[in-house]
Amino acid sequence: MEYIILDLEWNQPWPGSPSAKKKLPIHGEIIQIGAVKLENGQAGEEFQMLVRSHFYKKLNRKISSLTGIKEAKLKAEGVEFPEAMEQFRTWCGEDPFFFTWGYDDIPLLRENLAIYDMSLQWTDRWYNAQLIFNAQTDGVSTQRSLKTAMDMLEIAPTRPAHDALGDAYHTAKVLEKLDLDRGVALYAKICQDFEDGFRGTELPGCLSRKVYHGVESKQKALAQMAGEENLCPECGRPMEAGRWYSQQGRRYMNLVKCPDHGTFLLRIRLTEESGSFRVIKLLYAGDSEAAKASRTLMQKARRHFHRKKRTPASPGKAHQ
Ligand SMILES: [Zn+2]
Repeated sequence: MEYIILDLEWNQPWPGSPSAKKKLPIHGEIIQIGAVKLENGQAGEEFQMLVRSHFYKKLNRKISSLTGIKEAKLKAEGVEFPEAMEQFRTWCGEDPFFFTWGYDDIPLLRENLAIYDMSLQWTDRWYNAQLIFNAQTDGVSTQRSLKTAMDMLEIAPTRPAHDALGDAYHTAKVLEKLDLDRGVALYAKICQDFEDGFRGTELPGCLSRKVYHGVESKQKALAQMAGEENLCPECGRPMEAGRWYSQQGRRYMNLVKCPDHGTFLLRIRLTEESGSFRVIKLLYAGDSEAAKASRTLMQKARRHFHRKKRTPASPGKAHQ
């Protein structure tokens, strides 16, 4: 068992650029991998690599200035993704447990692996270190930045920020102060406490859950979840969405479909959060109890909808 602290930097297209119009099943293309092993609870061996990009030709200027990665350097020193992954996977060892600051890195890594038809299974075991940090410090449920966590633990930065290895190293310094074995053992409970909307009875058949912050409106949330976020959990490709059904408490559900992997139940819940929305997304197997129950609810809703539509038609006509 190896505890690996991972941080990735990735490229995203400039909004409105030709690359942005390409419908790719990745949210970003990995350009830098940084990782640190925890050895006896202390930051140990390090891994750092630049990765050449192919899907998005231009390096986004904002990302370039944030990460300090220049396009010329990426072209000159970047390793091809499959080769980079082979090396990284070998470095990780047989039994990696990944820790990332936030929810984004591993899903993005898996999208990138999927687009190259590479194995995903070795990335299955991962933990959002933010949640373990919150659970073992003051128990609040906000998502804190790495910098805030460092400030709280009085860790002075010694490496550059927004550099994959720098961020991984600082995350490792935070995790040095936590009880990670305990964090791992209690992780399911920590997640559940954090996502207070997840009740035990909802979870059987649930394949994935993801949280989004800062979504502007309900319309945007529905469009995004049925659109660019609607990716097959098996192959990572875009899925077709049906119509949304609303339920109590700003919950919505949709039956979504991958041409190769069949139907899944998509459920989302919106919560207002300082002027915007937090969206919790759950994806269930098509044959799960949750999906069966939802199909029944949707059928009822459709019958009700048709009845309602027919009824006002007759008085309308009577007035003519
Ligand atoms: Zn699929």
